[in-house]
Amino acid sequence: MLRVANVSKGYPRLGMALRDVTFEMQKGEFVFLVGHSGAGKSTLLKLLTMAERPTTGEVRVSGFSSVSIRPREIPQLRRRLGVVFQDFRLLPDRTAEQNIAFALEVTGTPGAQIAPKVARLLSQVGLAARATAYPHELSGGEQQRVAIARALANDPFLLLADEPTGNLDDRATHAIYLLLREINARGTSVLMATHDVAMIQRAGMRCLELDHGQLVFDGTDVGRLVANMRGRRG
Ligand code: ADP
Repeated sequence: MLRVANVSKGYPRLGMALRDVTFEMQKGEFVFLVGHSGAGKSTLLKLLTMAERPTTGEVRVSGFSSVSIRPREIPQLRRRLGVVFQDFRLLPDRTAEQNIAFALEVTGTPGAQIAPKVARLLSQVGLAARATAYPHELSGGEQQRVAIARALANDPFLLLADEPTGNLDDRATHAIYLLLREINARGTSVLMATHDVAMIQRAGMRCLELDHGQLVFDGTDVGRLVANMRGRRG
C-alpha cells in the first residue's frame, strides 16, 4: 500500500531533511510518526502526497511511484489520500457543511449525493448539531473534526495527519485521537505525526521515529522508543 525505499530529500542550502529512509505500511494500519521539531516529519508527509519528490530513492503509494508518476496523475493520488494539519486549514467564509461539501464538489461528486454524504460525515465526527456554524464559531477540537470530515469526504484509503492535536488541549487531543482510532477501525489506514509522548505511550501502537532526517526506530516497543528519545535529549 505504501513503501518508502532508501529515500533521501535535500533542500537547497539546508542539506538533507531525510536520509536513506525505508519503511512500509500495510492496509489498515495505524502508525505514529514521531520526532523532534525539524526531524523531517512534515517533509516525509509531503513526499507521500507527492507534493515533493525524493532527491534519491522511491516512494510508492497506492500503485503510484515517485519515479514514474506524471503530473496529471497527482490529483488521482491525492483523491485517495486524506490530509489534516495542525492549523485545520478550513475556509473561514464557509460553514462546516460547506467546507465538507467543497471537497466533494471539486472531485465532481454528483450534486444529489453531496448533502446526504456531508450529513453522514458530520455525524461520524460528532458534529451533526454544528453543521451551519462557521469555523470562528467552533472550538479548536470542533474545527479539527470538520477538517477530518473533509479529509474523509472522498473515502481515502489513507489519512495523513500532521500534528493534528498540536493546537488542542488535553481533552480535545484525546477526543481527536479516539476519533482517528475509530476511523482506522472502519478500515482507513492512518499515519499520524505527533510529538505527544504521553499519547504514544498510552496507545502502544507502531511508531516510526525520525531524528535529524534518519529513521531511528520502527516498532511497537514504545517503552524502548521513549527511553531512546529521552537518552538522545539528555
Ligand atoms: P518536522 O515536521 O519534523 O518538524 P520538517 O520536515 O518540517 O520537520 O523539516 C525538516 C528540515 O527540513 C528542517 O530543517 C526544515 O527547516 C527543512 N525544510 C522543510 N521544508 C523546507 C523547504 N521547503 N525548504 C528548505 N528547507 C526546508
